[in-house]
Amino acid sequence: MNIVILSRNPNLFSTERLVNEGEKRGHDMEVIDPLKCDLIIEKEKPTIYYKDRYLDYVDAIIPRIGASSTFFGCAVVRQFEMMNVFTSVTSDAIIRSRDKLRSFQRLSKAGIGMPKTVFTNYSRDVEKVIAHVGGTPVIIKLLEGTQGLGVVLAETKNAAESVLEAFNGLQARALVQEYVSEAKGADIRALVVDGQVVGAIKRQGKKGEFRSNLHRGGTAEVIKLNEAELKVAMKASRVLKLPVCGVDMLQSARGPLLLEVNSTPGLEGIETGTGKNIAKSIITYIERNRNS
Ligand code: ADP
Repeated sequence: MNIVILSRNPNLFSTERLVNEGEKRGHDMEVIDPLKCDLIIEKEKPTIYYKDRYLDYVDAIIPRIGASSTFFGCAVVRQFEMMNVFTSVTSDAIIRSRDKLRSFQRLSKAGIGMPKTVFTNYSRDVEKVIAHVGGTPVIIKLLEGTQGLGVVLAETKNAAESVLEAFNGLQARALVQEYVSEAKGADIRALVVDGQVVGAIKRQGKKGEFRSNLHRGGTAEVIKLNEAELKVAMKASRVLKLPVCGVDMLQSARGPLLLEVNSTPGLEGIETGTGKNIAKSIITYIERNRNS
């Protein structure tokens, strides 16, 4: 098969691993920068022009679209869909999952546990907002944040007020969330491929840090998920129609609480932590499901 990885950087760990595993299985692997594609739209003949050629020979794509290139990146994925090319994750699903609020609304309706969360239109009634999630301490998160940036733990009402005022003043939307202290600075990342959990790690923030992001100096260890955690990961993948995704959860006294579903999960932490060949799982998933 001709498999294209849509990625801005061929040297990223995940991109390299997918290229290697695809080649090992006999596929022609190519990394294409989605932002350098031209989309040509005309009646019944959608095409894509890249550098000096038309991408009319592609059998399947693996989108690895970063948050900053969602708009055009997803337009490229959609153009491939219009050309009947199989994609490991659809443009609609990526766009839906990028909207934290929308995803939360759908996931909570589907019965998935999550930290109690309030989202307001820049409400000034901070006291009420905090009361809705059960009082301080609270977590305040920028809607557009990644890698733990823009996630604040406010221990007191005063602190919460200042942070919300600052975010409001910048016209940056934020949500207020119950602080799950039982998680003790750790979270779980489950990697789902073809709707099944293929590996999971527990990430622990460095001492004194409530955020467990590996980018923030957290460490990872392999973990065997219990029944409830497996269920949440698989259900989240199904509800958001993301057959390949990373599902982040907190462990709490009332069971797993979903934090985020990532449509472009990094492979480094999970492959290194579990010793599992997740890149190969993604390639074989494509082999099983490609459009015939
Ligand atoms: P990002 O998408 O920027 O990584 P997250 O929502 O995943 O932001 O939050 C970053 C980290 O902060 C999580 O991995 C977790 O360790 C911690 N965290 C986030 N929300 C909560 C919460 N409600 N209670 C306790 N810890 C949290």
